[in-house]
Amino acid sequence: MIIKITFLGTGTSTGVPMIGCQCKVCSSPDTRDKRLRSSVLVNVIKENEPATGILIDAGPDFRQQMLVHGITSLEGILLTHEHRDHIAGLDDVRAFNFLSHNPVAVYAEKRVLNALQKTFEYAFTGSYFPGLPRMKLHPIDLEPFAINGVSVIPVRAMHGSLPVLGFRIGPFGYLTDVKDIEEKELDKFRGVDVFVVSTVQKTPHRTHFSLSEAVDAAKRVGAPRTYLTHLSHCLGPYVELSHELPDGIRLAYDGMILELPFTGT
Ligand SMILES: [Zn+2]
Ligand SMILES: [Zn+2]
Ligand SMILES: [Zn+2]
Repeated sequence: MIIKITFLGTGTSTGVPMIGCQCKVCSSPDTRDKRLRSSVLVNVIKENEPATGILIDAGPDFRQQMLVHGITSLEGILLTHEHRDHIAGLDDVRAFNFLSHNPVAVYAEKRVLNALQKTFEYAFTGSYFPGLPRMKLHPIDLEPFAINGVSVIPVRAMHGSLPVLGFRIGPFGYLTDVKDIEEKELDKFRGVDVFVVSTVQKTPHRTHFSLSEAVDAAKRVGAPRTYLTHLSHCLGPYVELSHELPDGIRLAYDGMILELPFTGT
């Protein structure tokens, strides 16, 4: 069994380039400096079985991300929190409804599901007509749960005053939009082969890890490989910033694919 990680987006809420910005990063010709809003696809691939595709977050670039990567089915969408850059694309699950003739399973905390029902009110009126996005909402808490037999472990972190969830799926850990995390929660990521953590800038931020705070969290987890995501143009160009990072910590970029052996479920 293998787990295939595809970085669909690695940018902060504005994306990179940011509209109207002429800075060195926003005008860089390097494709690794073009960042859609953060999202990752986790494919769990067992021999002789269809892959289980689990998406983490569905921001405003969701449709484009599905098209670029030729994604034709999703077994579940995990949401870290309800900020627009993580949920705004959910209207476009309609295409998956047409393909599968079923609602798309969405897993998030109750507070986040309530926010979805407000944001996409027209989809939850109870009266259905063709063309409405259909989502089956699964409330989750900190208890592990399974999608198609694949175990998902939620991890609590704080995004300023907003509680958010990170997720561990076998050898892969994903933690975005975080400013604080207790040691016992960070412990849930210990032993992963790949850890993904967010940062937006080098200077301190009220609701996000700075670069040094993200590096510190990565060192505490101690994964052989850590990738930074949710990056803003303030951090500098891919090539320059890459040289400033400690061993084992790299920048994620849109379209990056990792494959890891996965022995558990
Ligand atoms: Zn965000
Ligand atoms: Zn810029
Ligand atoms: Zn956020």
